[in-house]
Amino acid sequence: MLKIDVVRSVAALRAATQPHRREGKRIGLVPTMGALHQGHLELVKVARRHADFIIATIFVNPLQFNANADLDAYPRDEATDLNLLAATGADLVFAPTVGEMYSKQFSTEVKVGELTRYLDGPARPGHFEGVATVVTKLFNQAQPDIACFGEKDYQQLQVIKRLTRDLDLPIEIIPVPTLREEDGLAMSSRNRNLTEKERIAAALLPAALRQAVQELQTGGAAAPILEKTRAALKSAGFSPIDYVELCDAETLQPLPAAREGSRLFAAAHLGQTRLIDNWPVL
Ligand code: AMP
Repeated sequence: MLKIDVVRSVAALRAATQPHRREGKRIGLVPTMGALHQGHLELVKVARRHADFIIATIFVNPLQFNANADLDAYPRDEATDLNLLAATGADLVFAPTVGEMYSKQFSTEVKVGELTRYLDGPARPGHFEGVATVVTKLFNQAQPDIACFGEKDYQQLQVIKRLTRDLDLPIEIIPVPTLREEDGLAMSSRNRNLTEKERIAAALLPAALRQAVQELQTGGAAAPILEKTRAALKSAGFSPIDYVELCDAETLQPLPAAREGSRLFAAAHLGQTRLIDNWPVL
């Protein structure tokens, strides 16, 4: 069994990090909600290339869940997570309690406008405020030089880049490409909740999106291609489909046709599990 230091309070996090910062080491942060898979571990590996002391955080943030049932169903397996982080070369784990992060009087919210008007913004009201608030807290708590975020949650990555710039946080945000299973499904903690049958059907999401990307790349109107993709997902058992949209990769504004810097985004439910994915188009 490998060992890794775990701290659960902000004071202990600061005490554990301070000596390394004083030595001039660059601090890297990898925020996660646990139930780790290779995608998360890739973030740790990338962080290692950019920083000397890597802090991984494990915190299932209640603020970013719209439904209590979704929060309750979120997979948790801290013992396995700690082993994986130790084996991958993280230096410290910050795993605070909900009470440590949010006092009873907690009443501040970080809200990123514009980017959150699209895609998961309307589909998950309050979600990005929850994400932006917890990430701002984690940034202030750990004071990293760099932080890694996955392109799997592409809108989240854009929201975090925006808030970092808007609030003048001296942190470099490093995007990490999506790690996928052999059949193309984006790795996600939520995949654990899929039944065997749903897991097989889930691979149709990346397959349908890749097909759409090819068609979008030939030019022409996006609407019929997106509609065909929604229909394909529906007949594969996805329901409801929250969105299949072609958007500008920077502003996330929906686009009527592919152009330089466009990206395809989808979110759809399979049974109790909500899956998201995105692919570059041009
Ligand atoms: P989560 O634990 O789902 O909040 O994810 C924590 C971080 O890992 C986020 O920056 C995610 O974008 C990233 N991540 C999750 N899944 C993947 C994946 N399949 N490939 C790359 N990064 C990922």
